[in-house]
Amino acid sequence: MRDSIVIGAGQAGLSASYHLRRLGIDHLVLDANDAPGGAWQHRWDSLTMDDVHGVADLPDGPAPGRSRDRANHAVPDWFAHYEREHELPVLRPVRVERVTSDGDLLVVHAGERTWATRTVVNATGTWTHPFVPRYPGQETFRGEQLHTVDYAGPEHFRDKRVLVVGGGASAIQLLGEIRPVADTVWVTRREPVWRDRGEIDGRAAIRMVERRVAQGLPPASVVSATGLALRPQERLAESLGAYRRRPMFASIEPDGVRWADGSFERVDVILWATGFRPAVRHLAPLRLKSEYGGIPLLSGGADVQTSVTAATDPRVQLVGYGPSASTIGGNRAGRAAALAVRRHLRALERPSVAAG
Ligand SMILES: Cc1cc2nc3c(=O)[nH]c(=O)nc-3n(C[C@H](O)[C@H](O)[C@H](O)COP(=O)(O)OP(=O)(O)OC[C@H]3O[C@@H](n4cnc5c(N)ncnc54)[C@H](O)[C@@H]3O)c2cc1C
Repeated sequence: MRDSIVIGAGQAGLSASYHLRRLGIDHLVLDANDAPGGAWQHRWDSLTMDDVHGVADLPDGPAPGRSRDRANHAVPDWFAHYEREHELPVLRPVRVERVTSDGDLLVVHAGERTWATRTVVNATGTWTHPFVPRYPGQETFRGEQLHTVDYAGPEHFRDKRVLVVGGGASAIQLLGEIRPVADTVWVTRREPVWRDRGEIDGRAAIRMVERRVAQGLPPASVVSATGLALRPQERLAESLGAYRRRPMFASIEPDGVRWADGSFERVDVILWATGFRPAVRHLAPLRLKSEYGGIPLLSGGADVQTSVTAATDPRVQLVGYGPSASTIGGNRAGRAAALAVRRHLRALERPSVAAG
């Protein structure tokens, strides 16, 4: 029996655990990975700390700065040190399969093991739930289909003809690496929106995601709402024509893709840089989702990244979800979740006060 179980030990889960510990709340962190690092340990080798958008500090734990170090080493090393330094109670590898409700308690199931808990802080990110859209004929394609999660660097694509699908930051980065060694075609559903480097309005993007979540819609990614920019490392690919975008094709055939106007493009590889969905399937028994497919959260007030409590079940906090799905958002949400857990535990101790 625990007061809280945190599911996931990425940036959001570690921040929540840090704050739970500071508040003296008995808890465990269950993480599916074999080692510290959250999703960062699975990012591709060529992604350096210079390439990432920016990794926010953890509470009381400054992030590694910009460098040519591999992000899939630098961030996991930092998380490992952080877990040790703050004595965070992380148990791994534990993949939570489902969370059920039993009276006032929640029950967390992982294989043969179960934990009863008063509250759950869900911090499972999106990396384990890659999204690939469906197109007619997809199963007939004789070439290779990969998703961003499978990307291991540009060499795999050398001298091939590669179709990159997707209008987000990952597509831009992958094209930047692949175009110098391979022929590429880029397709997106919508016309890409380009911005100059300085123009980013992160707050507006976060507010947009918050509005969607408040309406019970599935959250869109914060990064997707900030527009696209090319960095110096993508200029070579740009000069080779990598960012001349075509609209989405209509169907997939054994050797390539066909557009509605009948034109055809032969390709060896389709690389789906089509994003992720929140990894929340294990919460399905709690029926938190609205009819629109998202999990509505109670408003956290002025700072939208502190909206963490599931609207239909105050025992469940979601961090790194919707408006807090970034490293800085995960941090803020972690603190808000710990405070919400404390509120809930206090209300359990004084039910009449809570009712009043
Ligand atoms: C390619 C890429 C680059 C990005 N770059 C940036 C950036 O530069 N800056 C930024 O702010 N954001 C960036 N993001 C967004 C980024 O994913 C988040 O900011 C942050 O890493 C997410 O942290 P998190 O703690 O929510 O999730 P994660 O880091 O994904 O951690 C979730 C943890 O939960 C575990 N887990 C999942 N399911 C279960 C389960 N059922 N049971 C137990 N454990 C489970 C996972 O194993 C993982 O350890 C990027 C995203 C991508 C895809």
